[in-house]
Amino acid sequence: MQRDCFTQEQELFRDSYRQFLQKEVLPHRDEWRKAGIVPREMFRKMGDQGYLMIWADEQYGGLGIDDFRYQQVMMEEDSQYGDIGFYHTLHSRLVGPYLKHFGSDEQRARFLPRCISGDCILAVAMTEPDAGSDLAGIKSRAVDHGDHWILNGAKTYISNGINADLVVVAAKTSPDNPRQIGLFLVERGMEGFERGRNLAKMGMKSQDTAELFFRDVKIPKENVLGDASKGFHYLMRGLAEERLIGAAGYLGNAWRSYEVTRDFVMQRKVFGKPLSDQQNTRFKMASLRVELEVAQTYVDHCVTQQNAGKLTPESAAIAKLYVSEVEGRVVDECVQLHGGAGYMEEYEVCWRYTDARISRIYAGSSEIMREIIARSIFGR
Ligand SMILES: Cc1cc2nc3c(=O)[nH]c(=O)nc-3n(C[C@H](O)[C@H](O)[C@H](O)COP(=O)(O)OP(=O)(O)OC[C@H]3O[C@@H](n4cnc5c(N)ncnc54)[C@H](O)[C@@H]3O)c2cc1C
Repeated sequence: MQRDCFTQEQELFRDSYRQFLQKEVLPHRDEWRKAGIVPREMFRKMGDQGYLMIWADEQYGGLGIDDFRYQQVMMEEDSQYGDIGFYHTLHSRLVGPYLKHFGSDEQRARFLPRCISGDCILAVAMTEPDAGSDLAGIKSRAVDHGDHWILNGAKTYISNGINADLVVVAAKTSPDNPRQIGLFLVERGMEGFERGRNLAKMGMKSQDTAELFFRDVKIPKENVLGDASKGFHYLMRGLAEERLIGAAGYLGNAWRSYEVTRDFVMQRKVFGKPLSDQQNTRFKMASLRVELEVAQTYVDHCVTQQNAGKLTPESAAIAKLYVSEVEGRVVDECVQLHGGAGYMEEYEVCWRYTDARISRIYAGSSEIMREIIARSIFGR
C-alpha cells in the first residue's frame, strides 16, 4: 500500500529500528515466549539506543521527539518484526506520559532519567479481580495520614507486572465518591508491595502479566501523582492516545499475517496447482487487502489528528474498535488459508492468531468502544 504520510527521516528511523529488532529481538522471540517474560536488560538495550520515551525532554536524556508518527512507526515495526509481548510501548507511551503531564518537577527529575535509560520499568495498575471495564468499581483504597498515605488493594492482569520497578496504582481516595481516585507511585521494594503469579495466557506469551498486592503500603506524599482526587480524569486523558497506539499495532499484526499468508498460498500446492490459483483464495486475499487498506487509511488519518491535537475520544474509539475487529477477521482467515499448518506453532500465523484475541478486550473492550461512540451520537 502506498502511504505518503511519513517523512524521509521517519523512514530512516524505521529502517534503523527494524535492524535493531532483527538483531536484538527476533532471535530471542521463542525463548521469551517460553519463559513468559522479556529479560530486563532488553529495556536497557532499548534505552541505550534512545528508543525509550523518545518524546521526553533532552534535559532528562530523551530525544524530544513528540511527533506521534514515530510512535506509529515503532508500533508497526514491533508488531511485524519484533515481539508484541515486549511491552516497552506501555512503559514509554502509556505510563511515562503520566509522569510528564501530572508529575511534579521533582518526580520527573527523580524518575524520568532512569525510565529513559531502561533502568526503571513502568506499569499501570487499574484492573482488579472484580473491576475492569468499570473503573469506578475498584476496591483498592488509599487513606491520607498527613505526611503519607496508606494503600491497600489487589490488582490483576498487570502488564510488565513482574518486571516493573515503578507502578502507577489507581486507588479510591474517598469512601463516599466512587469516582474519586488517586494515582500512587509504588516503587519496587516498598514494604507491603508484593507480586503474585505471572499469569499463563492464551497469547502474547512473552509479556509478564501479573497479580499485584498492596498491604498497608506506606506511600510518601512525594509519591502521589498530581491531585489525589483527580486520578479518574488523568486516566481518561491518556486513553485516546493509548487506543490509537493499540490500533497501529493491531494493524501491523494483521498486515504481517496477510503477508505470510500470501507467501504460503503461493508455494502451497493443492490438487496440482498453487493454492493462490484457486478463486476462493484469490477472492479471500483480495477482501483482506480491502479491509487492511481501509483500516490503514483511517489510522493514518487519526495519527494526523493526534499530531494536530484534534483526536477526539470517539475517533480513537472508532479506530480501536474497527481495527481490532479487522485484525480478528484477517488473522482468522489467514489461519484458514494455511489449513492444518495454521494450527501449528511453528507457523507464524498460529501465534499471531492467539496474540490478536486480546485486542478486542483490553484498553477498553469492543463493547465499551461502542458505548463511547454511542454517547457521541446521542449526547449521553
Ligand atoms: C493481557 C492483558 C494485559 C492487561 N494489562 C493491563 C494493565 O497493564 N493494567 C490494567 O490496569 N489492566 C490491564 N488489563 C486488564 C484489561 O484492561 C481488562 O481485562 C479489560 O478492561 C476488561 O475488564 P475485565 O477483564 O474486568 O472484564 P469485564 O469488565 O468484567 O467485562 C466482561 C465483559 O462484559 C462486557 N462489558 C463490560 N461493561 C459493559 C457495558 N457497560 N456494556 C456492555 N458490555 C459490557 C465487556 O466488554 C466484556 O465482554 C490487561 C488484560 C489482559 C488480558
